[in-house]
Amino acid sequence: MSEQAIVATADVFDASDAGDGAEHAPKSGVRRPPPMIEVASVRRAKRTIALVTILVPTFGTALALGLAVARGIGALELGLLVGMYIVTMTGVEVGFHRYFAHSAFKGGEVLRALLGVAGSMAAQGPVIYWAATHRRHHVYSDTKEDPHSPHVRKADSGSEQRFTSRLAGLWHSQMGNMYTDHATNVMAFSADLRRSRLNVFIDRHYRKWVLFGLILPALIGAAVERSLYGALMGLLWGGLVRIFVVHHIYFANGSFSHMYGGRPFKTDDESTNNYVFGVPTFGSAWQNNHHAFPSSANLGFKWYQPDVGYFIIRALAALGVVTSMNRAPTAQEQAGKARIPAQAVRL
Ligand SMILES: [Zn+2]
Ligand SMILES: [Zn+2]
Repeated sequence: MSEQAIVATADVFDASDAGDGAEHAPKSGVRRPPPMIEVASVRRAKRTIALVTILVPTFGTALALGLAVARGIGALELGLLVGMYIVTMTGVEVGFHRYFAHSAFKGGEVLRALLGVAGSMAAQGPVIYWAATHRRHHVYSDTKEDPHSPHVRKADSGSEQRFTSRLAGLWHSQMGNMYTDHATNVMAFSADLRRSRLNVFIDRHYRKWVLFGLILPALIGAAVERSLYGALMGLLWGGLVRIFVVHHIYFANGSFSHMYGGRPFKTDDESTNNYVFGVPTFGSAWQNNHHAFPSSANLGFKWYQPDVGYFIIRALAALGVVTSMNRAPTAQEQAGKARIPAQAVRL
């Protein structure tokens, strides 16, 4: 989603009757403006951006793998992939998700800028739009208005028993929604974020941050190898392959972590705690914990649910960069939402 599309969605919402929202009643029953901009030109723009965002990293990854087979790879390529993965996964999970979308912790403007830029480099959309779409996911989770539910077939036809239906749902939530979904109505979900000039600045210059996330590893590759081939390796492994990997691992939050895994808490959605993606998503795949207690800074409630994102927040707090954070739910609060009360006592 580009900054033009953001402006367009806001303008379109201000200028049009995108509907009265009656057919999009959220689970809470609270009346809201329409969650989506159902306007053809906005949808076309979103589709073009989605295609570029999906296809360019995919082709880059294919090229990188081809070159790796032909010429091999070394510490530089893997180092840049891992290093840039850590930076951008922190940006998107600690920054976009917990800081911007949920205000789970607080810090100064420098922290906000760093998290905003690092998250933007993940190429998942500008920060205000991302936060709006994520809040829409929470309000309408696993209904037709959810931007990326894997249960879309169930919402449509009331059934997803067939394996192919589940597969189609997983594809929709993993990637397909980027192309097919209507644009989120930013003003309905992120009006508060638009009041910060710094947020708007980070949001409007989204493409530059994405580009920076490609140029930086290319420059490092060139400096280390002292060659153009080193720059190409940096661009591919620290840039496009990294975007491809972060995309697919992070998008598993919406797909696998709403279909497979434990559901210790009663929530009015299908969120699960997924043990495959828990660590690689830096804790975001503890989705059932998160949907039950969305404002908590800590998403891993048990010792076997490591939360890398929370570890980073605590490290930043120890350095004085994070000034306050929302506490995790108490055992009593967790027991109140437990699906099986007897188990809750041991939470
Ligand atoms: Zn979710
Ligand atoms: Zn969330």
